[in-house]
Parts: sequence; C-alpha cells; structure tokens
Amino acid sequence: MTATNVHVIIVVGAGPAGMAVAGTLAKAGHEVIILNRDIKFGGLAEYGIFPSKLKLRGGLRKQYWDLLEQPNVHYLGNVTIGVGKDLTVEDLQGLGASAVVFTIGAQGTKAIGVEGDSAKGVYHAKDVVYHFNRLPGFGDRPFDMGKHVAVIGAGDVMVDIAHWLIRYKKVERVSAIVRRGPVERKYNPKEIRAVCNNMDLEGIQKEFDRIKDRMAAVGQKADEVFKGLTGEFTKCEPKVSETKMSFQFLASPKRILVDSNNRVRGLEMEDNRLVSKGEDTIAIGLKQYYEFPCDAVVFAVGDKVDESVGLPHKGGLFVTNPSKTGNDPDDALFQVYDEATGKVLEGVFLAGWARKASEGLVGVAKRDGDWCAEVVGRYLATKSVCNQAKVVLDTLHNILKSRKSQPVDVKGLRRLQMAEEAYTGQSDYIGEFKYANNWDMIRVIETSKA
Ligand SMILES: Cc1cc2nc3c(=O)[nH]c(=O)nc-3n(C[C@H](O)[C@H](O)[C@H](O)COP(=O)(O)OP(=O)(O)OC[C@H]3O[C@@H](n4cnc5c(N)ncnc54)[C@H](O)[C@@H]3O)c2cc1C
Repeated sequence: MTATNVHVIIVVGAGPAGMAVAGTLAKAGHEVIILNRDIKFGGLAEYGIFPSKLKLRGGLRKQYWDLLEQPNVHYLGNVTIGVGKDLTVEDLQGLGASAVVFTIGAQGTKAIGVEGDSAKGVYHAKDVVYHFNRLPGFGDRPFDMGKHVAVIGAGDVMVDIAHWLIRYKKVERVSAIVRRGPVERKYNPKEIRAVCNNMDLEGIQKEFDRIKDRMAAVGQKADEVFKGLTGEFTKCEPKVSETKMSFQFLASPKRILVDSNNRVRGLEMEDNRLVSKGEDTIAIGLKQYYEFPCDAVVFAVGDKVDESVGLPHKGGLFVTNPSKTGNDPDDALFQVYDEATGKVLEGVFLAGWARKASEGLVGVAKRDGDWCAEVVGRYLATKSVCNQAKVVLDTLHNILKSRKSQPVDVKGLRRLQMAEEAYTGQSDYIGEFKYANNWDMIRVIETSKA
C-alpha cells in the first residue's frame, strides 16, 4: 500500500464488532483509531460474558491485545461519543478521517411497559450483568435481590442472571418467567449446565401438568417435552447453594405489585395460551390474572441502542440506508441514514449490536464487523485520502485536552492490567480482580507511571 491510499478510519467501540472492523482494516494497511467509552476494550466480551468463563474471555483478550499492539492501530479508552459527552458525532465527522464506524453495541434498555416498573427491586438484566462484571458505574452499586427473584426471559441472559443468583447471591428461589411454553425456550442447553443442579424438578413437573392441555392444543406432547428439557440437565456444575430454580410458563407480567415502601412484593401475571402461526407458535393472553409473589424482578428481554448518541434512530435501532443501490446492494445495510434529510451520513457506518441489537454471540458480532470492514473497504476504494493519521490524532488529542477528558492509551491499559494482576486485597469479585470504577483505574494508571 502506498501513502496515497492509506486511509484513516475511526472505529467507535472496542467490543467484538469494533475489534473485527479495526483488525481487518488495519491488516489492509489503513490507520485505525479506536475510541471506546470504557477504559478497557472488549465491550460485552469483558463486561457481559459471565466472569467465570475465563478461557473464553482470556482468548478474546489475547487477540485484542495483539491487535492493539499494531503500529497502525491507535486506542483511546474512556472516550464517550454522544451529546454532551467527550465528543459528538459531528466532532468525529470533522476530524478529517475517511470513515467513521460505530460499533457501540446496544446500550439502551427496552421499555418494559409494565405498570410499576420503577419500584425498588426491579432491574434490567444488563445492569445486573454489568454489576457482576464490574463495569464502572455498576460494579459498586447495590443490587438488593431479596429471597425470591423472578427473571423475565428464556434466553442465555436469563440463565446468566440465574447463575449469579444461585452461585453467588445464594437466594432461596429463582423463577424464570416465560411468555410462551417450554418448547419455545431460547437458551443454549450448554449454558443451563451452570444451574441445572439447582433445578426444582418436582416444581417443574407440576408446571408441566398445569400447562399440558395448552401445549396439546398446538400439538406439543408435554411428557416428551419434559423429558427433553430435563434431559439437558447433564454435566451440571457442582451445587454450591440450596437455591431452587423453576419455570413459570405461559406467563406475561402485567403489573409490579409493591408494598407500602414501593418495594416489589410480586407480579400480577396474565395466563397465556399457545397458538400456531405459520412456522411459529405465539402466546395470546387469556385475560385470566393471578398474583405471583417475589422480592425482585429482573427483565432479561433484550436491549435497544443508545438514542442519546446523536445518530438517527427509530424503534430502538439506528437507521440504515433503505435504498439498495451501488455495486453491492447489501452495503446499504451498514450505512447510517438520516430520514430527515433523506441522505446517508457520508462515510458513517454501523456494525455488530449497534446495527442489530442483541443479535447473537461474539462470533456473530465479529462476523458482522468483518462484513462491515469489507463494505468500508469498497467505500474507501472510491475516495481519495483525507488526512494523515498524525494530523487526525493531534486534532483529536487537542479537542480532548480542551474538554478535560482523560483518554487512556494502550500503555495506560498495560499498567492497569499489571496492577490488577498483582492485586492481593479482599473483594467480592468473581473470577479475577477488576477495579470497579474509573476513578480507581485512572489513579492506578497514573501512579504506576515509570
Ligand atoms: C449477559 C450477556 C452474556 C453474554 N455471554 C456470551 C457468551 O457467553 N458467549 C458469547 O459468545 N457471547 C456472549 N454474549 C454476546 C456478546 O457479548 C455480544 O455478541 C458481543 O459482545 C456484541 O459485540 P459488539 O461489539 O457489537 O458490542 P459490545 O460488546 O456491546 O461493545 C460495544 C463497545 O462500544 C463501547 N461504547 C458504547 N457506547 C459508546 C459511546 N457512546 N461512545 C464510545 N464507545 C461506546 C463500549 O464501551 C463497548 O466497548 C453475551 C451477551 C450478554 C449481554
């Protein structure tokens, strides 16, 4: 590659999608600047994946370190893009880079739409996950779960929350509240191993008896499904608490019931029936309601994008180009589009959970990043080079300095990593020690300077 076709690309977000975009474009010889809200890179690979999955996290971390050590990759953590934040979208567009790729994940939480959801003891799953993964802002916030926790959802995130409640909080009971039936459960059978030793088999059998007629109405045989579901309870992790876990199927929470202190005391639940619709099976409310006692409620029902970033958004997603034109029409799916002007935001792209909120595991986000990098590569081939990396980086540093931001570069990250590995004090962390707030991290980085 010659200096005339080396472009500068800004990647916002250092999760699996951002690292994939950065990796591919850096390999192609371009200069890549990564800006990340968190001091540490990794996104949900660092702050979402269950903290005891050390092998998975360690493997990803190693790959990401290798990328950040490349001379044409420039990392700045602790830099948030958004209105009133370190930098705005317009600031980025004005830096003179050839393209800006947003891979900022889905940081918003879906409106729950259940009356009383501001009560004490109601939580969003992502906040809980961020808490036990020690994301700054969440790591040292209290989460009072009581004895019986209702987790709304039937996916892997529900299982991760149950895992934490069973193994670390050791609550008395965890109930997974599932809108449809057991056949429609979404979690990966491997994930259930973390909690299957705590399953209340008698309670689950009773629940199947309660709903078997409604399953039969859509051709599902409760006995067989019970065998299938409980047959997945193999290779269970050793039992460390007396917590009992069960399922409440065909149940839609309608209202949070509270005590005189506005603290959760239960859920008003609507019973559902199942109906076949094409290939799918849907739940329809029966307008029959009952009280379900519990002390805390965690909603694990997916995420939406952060609408305060300053990118065009609609229905919980950033807006992409609806018109499929050009040599590769699918390129439009990665281009940010402003419906108000009817134009794409020139040179601004999306990838990963920022493009498709809550979709898939790390591998899916990485693949999306790889595809996006191909789209950006095609775009760059049509453009002349805007600026050199040094010019863009100098301008960026000057703006951040004038705003009193405290960006953390790779050298700072290395010092932080060494300090965390050397930590010997007491803490309630899971897996490995992490500082739980930015202030402590910056202090450690500053004081360990050579
Ligand atoms: C609870 C949970 C458990 C999971 N467990 C697994 C698992 O076991 N195995 C697996 O393979 N996958 C798992 N996943 C899925 C996996 O984590 C995601 O697929 C993947 O992390 C999505 O990658 P991403 O890069 O699109 O977004 P993210 O990982 O969310 O990364 C977004 C990045 O953008 C940065 N950012 C956000 N907002 C801004 C901003 N305004 N300005 C600047 N930077 C910003 C963040 O700091 C972050 O680094 C899990 C997900 C969750 C929620």
